[in-house]
Amino acid sequence: MTTTQNTAAPAAPSYPNQVTGMWVLARSLVMMGVKEMYGLVGIPVTEAAYICQEQGIRFFGFRHEQQAGMAAATHGFLTGTPGVLLTVSSLGFLNGLTATANATVNCYPMVQISGSSVREPIDLQQGTYEGLDQLAVAKPLVKAAYRVNKVEDIPTGVVRAFRAAMSGRPGGVYLDITTPALGQILDMDVAEKLIYKPVDIAPAMPPAKEAVARAMQLIAGARRPAFLIGKGAAYARVEAEMRQLVDKTGIPFYCMSMAKGFLPDTDPLSALSCRSTIMEQADVVVLVGARLNWLLSRGKGKWAKNPDVKFVQLDIDPQEIDSNVPIAAPVVGDLKSSLDAMLAALPSYKMSMDPAWVKSLQDETRTKNAKFAQRLKDAANAMPMTHWTALGVIKPIIESNPDVILVNEGANTLDDTRDTIDMSLPRHRIDCATWAIMGMGMGSCVGAAASTGKSVVAIEGDSAFGFSGMDFSTACRFGLPVTVVIFNNGGIYNGIGVNMSKNGDPAPTTLDINARYDKIGEAFGADSYYVKTPQELDAALKAAIASKRPTIIDVQLGADSGKESGHIGYLNPAPLQNITV
Ligand code: ADP
Ligand code: MG
Repeated sequence: MTTTQNTAAPAAPSYPNQVTGMWVLARSLVMMGVKEMYGLVGIPVTEAAYICQEQGIRFFGFRHEQQAGMAAATHGFLTGTPGVLLTVSSLGFLNGLTATANATVNCYPMVQISGSSVREPIDLQQGTYEGLDQLAVAKPLVKAAYRVNKVEDIPTGVVRAFRAAMSGRPGGVYLDITTPALGQILDMDVAEKLIYKPVDIAPAMPPAKEAVARAMQLIAGARRPAFLIGKGAAYARVEAEMRQLVDKTGIPFYCMSMAKGFLPDTDPLSALSCRSTIMEQADVVVLVGARLNWLLSRGKGKWAKNPDVKFVQLDIDPQEIDSNVPIAAPVVGDLKSSLDAMLAALPSYKMSMDPAWVKSLQDETRTKNAKFAQRLKDAANAMPMTHWTALGVIKPIIESNPDVILVNEGANTLDDTRDTIDMSLPRHRIDCATWAIMGMGMGSCVGAAASTGKSVVAIEGDSAFGFSGMDFSTACRFGLPVTVVIFNNGGIYNGIGVNMSKNGDPAPTTLDINARYDKIGEAFGADSYYVKTPQELDAALKAAIASKRPTIIDVQLGADSGKESGHIGYLNPAPLQNITV
């Protein structure tokens, strides 16, 4: 049998001047400025995707909805406009919802649009095709959720969804459109009149004057101040404002994982290696689009050694303030307005920062950097390679290609890559973020490449890659400049995990140390490399970036490289040696 291009026309309305709900949806999305869309089609949304393409929207079709959702979420973070995910009813919707929930937790704007089955048999629980009360399921997991039951309401549904996703603290929004509404027919001129562009969809929210004065007073009076910059600042695109504030005050800064590169990691005032010192010694800490959540020990842990530390917090969400410890000076507003107000107020304040504080952080940075460099040097010739051997090769290549977007997930692969590779541009690092989840890799690669047109390099643990590996084929189908580097140490954490099985089964953490992930590349027409030595890795990665073609590089590590849970082993409920077996 030969395969042919499917030339079937989209469901045509009966009369040329009539249109379906799917057409109204597509036109509404075009009106919102949507240029890319991510999803996986089937009943009842296949024709909606056809029509979106016909209307000029690029439709990136995935193999799993979760990855399409990760693409939409990454799109949202990188562009500041919601990524759009299109899913089918029931399981497709649920698969996608994991990504929408994750986007909500990470404050990324995205809109999941799902077709859903006819309401009546769902509500009466009579058993119908893919019958699930999707709106009810989505509601507790997303920022907002809406259902559209009739075609006339589709434009309003789209506008409300976009407004909810983008305004205030961004997040994931669910828009449910029932099958009847998708198929309902309307006169085109009536439909056209319903479609509109909302005014000021993400309004500026300037902070109160007193809040700015309170914050400035604290900052000016500080002897040992520091900025903690989070991905909210990267999202809000306030690098120019923060650059000014840092330069004018001379206050050192620490960038959270996905804010790495917001200001260059190698900046003289970057205190990337001094996180503990800041926690233990700073007297005023200014949180800029960063939550004081578990990633900052929730204001406890090492902070406990520093009971007099005072926090200034710049955030758009008033409910975030005081989430863990009292905030001395909340500045609630959008970051651009807040930073503009602080910069305007700055000339009236005199800074009292102790120059010895900056010097001590710079000395510590130098010592730590030397230690990191030594660790890479020590591992440079390890055979088989370790994470550090491979990262020693990758570091200079990524650093000399600063415009490449780095996607990173895994346990040790995540921690070690984050610690090793310096970033110098904002919004060039996408990782597993606030929930520290696995399984965002291939979707994020496609979303990053599709929404920015830039090259992407993913550094993936072998386990992490497994969650989304099939969607490498999506990067291939669309010919995207995506290079996937897989650190194969044969397992979750490593390939030598504790094995208590009585029958020779592999350990719960054990995967496939001899797997040839590069063959997946061959299967889908990508460039593929299997590398065992630093020299081979160096050549492969350089060629991959230069080619701008989809590429997969299987990096053979030793099975003993990596430790359980990477840097966060302390979160395990009880170390194995304490369990009686
Ligand atoms: P990180 O994980 O890097 O520390 P978080 O996701 O914890 O960052 O924090 C990001 C914060 O940024 C959230 O509290 C969110 O409300 C805030 N935020 C997002 N966009 C804006 C904006 N435009 N202005 C102000 N704050 C914002
Ligand atoms: Mg592994």
